[in-house]
Amino acid sequence: MKTFTNQNPGTVDEAIELVRTAREDGHSVSFAGGGTDLLQLVKERVVNRSGQDVPDVLVNLKSLEGVDQVSFSSLGGVAIGGLTTLSNLANNPRILDDYKVLAEAAGQVGTPQIRNAGTLAGNVCQRPWCWYYRNGFPCYKAGGNECFSIAGENQLHAIFGGGPSFIVHPSDVAPALVALDATFNVAGPSGNRVISSSDFFVLPRDNVQHENVLSDDEFLISVDLPAPPNGLKSTYHKVMDRDAWTHALVSVAVVMEMDGDICSAVKIVLGGVAPEPWRVPSAEALLIGNVVTEELARSVGEAAVSGARPLAKNAYKIPLVRGVVARTVLALATSV
Ligand SMILES: Cc1cc2nc3c(=O)[nH]c(=O)nc-3n(C[C@H](O)[C@H](O)[C@H](O)COP(=O)(O)OP(=O)(O)OC[C@H]3O[C@@H](n4cnc5c(N)ncnc54)[C@H](O)[C@@H]3O)c2cc1C
Repeated sequence: MKTFTNQNPGTVDEAIELVRTAREDGHSVSFAGGGTDLLQLVKERVVNRSGQDVPDVLVNLKSLEGVDQVSFSSLGGVAIGGLTTLSNLANNPRILDDYKVLAEAAGQVGTPQIRNAGTLAGNVCQRPWCWYYRNGFPCYKAGGNECFSIAGENQLHAIFGGGPSFIVHPSDVAPALVALDATFNVAGPSGNRVISSSDFFVLPRDNVQHENVLSDDEFLISVDLPAPPNGLKSTYHKVMDRDAWTHALVSVAVVMEMDGDICSAVKIVLGGVAPEPWRVPSAEALLIGNVVTEELARSVGEAAVSGARPLAKNAYKIPLVRGVVARTVLALATSV
């Protein structure tokens, strides 16, 4: 196996400097958080963001100091370090109170071991789990020019936003962050930038090799969430083909503001169905200004699947989305 250098920066500036130096020396770089995804990619020699199966330099972000904290602002809102583990997010009492959808999404990732090691940033930036990509097929994600799922085994693939690649975005946490209007703080040798969660993820039609707008030299340092308005309720629901240890077949993050019985604002974001977290504005629009009844929730579920384009073997996702959206919206709106 090709060797690589492991680097343990203590600060964000040191990490940036390591990337700059590696690039000047013509070396490829990969970032590691908990390593629960990345080390498997390296071990199985799956092509990573740098376009190589094994990077020259691995920048271990877990060695950064102070980037694994959850800090609540006195003005409201929260800054979450990118290296915060999923377990810490899932069990943080104020995240559970104010941003329940995020705690629930983090708490449903994989297994306790993965949540203890896995980080927020690594979860959001994990590569697709399409079996063709993970098994060394020269697909678009690996730098090739074909999506093998189109004519192949596409049970787990996209029903929205696909083409030319039909991967689904695998992160449980990402739909929750989009629903909460998160902003992402990113660092790299060309400077820091702040990116809205609605602009962070990309469809294959815009960039077939990457799932987000980060350049190969940039890494995610932290995520900010706005203060929760009064009357905010939120939840995450995930449907799997077994009880644990796996990604969503379909999931939904719902963030709803209530004025008494009336829904005054809402975001519904689907996971497991598209190459990026998938918002369904036409379903959201039906809820605004209305009391959420069973009948309305059913219409919202129906609206959530409009425009779906299943492949040969994944049409089962349509009734799953319809049902999970209707059930989750009704349960959330009527919860006390
Ligand atoms: C058996 C199993 C089950 C799983 N089940 C789920 C599941 O149910 N739901 C789910 O969402 N995920 C699941 N995962 C995927 C994944 O391992 C976890 O989501 C985990 O949170 C990834 O975090 P990490 O810190 O270990 O990432 P790493 O493995 O360290 O990194 C993942 C990717 O993100 C990049 N990266 C890491 N940190 C940064 C950063 N700060 N900035 C930019 N890029 C970065 C890495 O280069 C790599 O490409 C599963 C994995 C396994 C092995």
